[in-house]
Amino acid sequence: QKKASLDIKVLAKDLRAGSRAALARAITLVESRRGDHQAHARDLVQMLLPDTGKAVRVGITGSPGVGKSTTIDALGSYLIEQGHKVAVLAVDPSSARSGGSILGDKTRMARLAASDHAYIRPSPSSGTLGGVAAKTREAMLLCEAAGFDVVLVETVGIGQSETAVCDMTDFFLALMLPGGGDELQGIKKGLVELADMIAINKADGDNLKRANITAADYRGALHILSPRSEHWHPPVVTYSALTGKGIAELWQKILDHRKAMNASGDFAARRREQQVKWMWSMLEQRMLARLRTEAAVRAKVKKIEAEVADGRVTPALAAEHIMELLQ
Ligand code: GDP
Repeated sequence: QKKASLDIKVLAKDLRAGSRAALARAITLVESRRGDHQAHARDLVQMLLPDTGKAVRVGITGSPGVGKSTTIDALGSYLIEQGHKVAVLAVDPSSARSGGSILGDKTRMARLAASDHAYIRPSPSSGTLGGVAAKTREAMLLCEAAGFDVVLVETVGIGQSETAVCDMTDFFLALMLPGGGDELQGIKKGLVELADMIAINKADGDNLKRANITAADYRGALHILSPRSEHWHPPVVTYSALTGKGIAELWQKILDHRKAMNASGDFAARRREQQVKWMWSMLEQRMLARLRTEAAVRAKVKKIEAEVADGRVTPALAAEHIMELLQ
């Protein structure tokens, strides 16, 4: 126990000094399911807490094929030219089932993967969305402590994973394709209510005109929705990840948003809310984990479950009994 806690200190020191190996080891610790690893991971993140929170945290979503990897490669490379250090993380709850993550694969971001100023980490494959999101959040803190001042968190446009990424970032960017007739699809899904900006990719070549029309459609649709913050009306922009045209402007919008949110106090409020939400989601997961993994507790829960199924105990009373097990 004593030796282990000493190792955590060394790991924290190396990580703070910017060691990529230490960062990788720390994230592996955070992702581990072993109880002792998890305890060490908690100590490590707590130890590093003063060094966290300073990065620009950007969530990026979009359907497969929209150009997320190309965009992250282009935006990340642009930011590195500007002197930033860029970490790329991913939330892909399907990775546990499919056996491989469709996001965060280094080969998809060739330029970034070759840079010493970038760190790319594929999605943890822990199964539940809650678990994946929690691990990604902690990985984000570790990246910040290691000196990465921009963190890009990628997710695919599927349901709750977008909310999870929005809940851990300062700016949520929704990528869309030009035209196709389903351009307002995002609005139906409620995604647009999360987005701080909509960016229409592939505004190049023959697509240019359609991209502009799509942007106008989104602007019209956004107009009738009430924005999340009275200090920020989500802009709709067009760009090309392939040619790089519009990438600098895209980043400038993110900085404008940050400035406006800082000035109004919304920035601090959003981070505070996220912290508290995070605590509750960790608590929920730990309670569920205890019910599912601790052998003695699990056996009792199974028994109660059977009683409910047979109609011998009401679900309400059963829940009460299970609560008692957690004490
Ligand atoms: P992801 O699945 O969202 O990560 O999408 P990718 O980044 O893998 O891109 C999907 C396809 O779209 C690839 O063939 C890219 O080369 C292409 N693509 C990405 N961005 C652009 C762009 O700005 N313009 C054009 N014309 N093609 C693009």
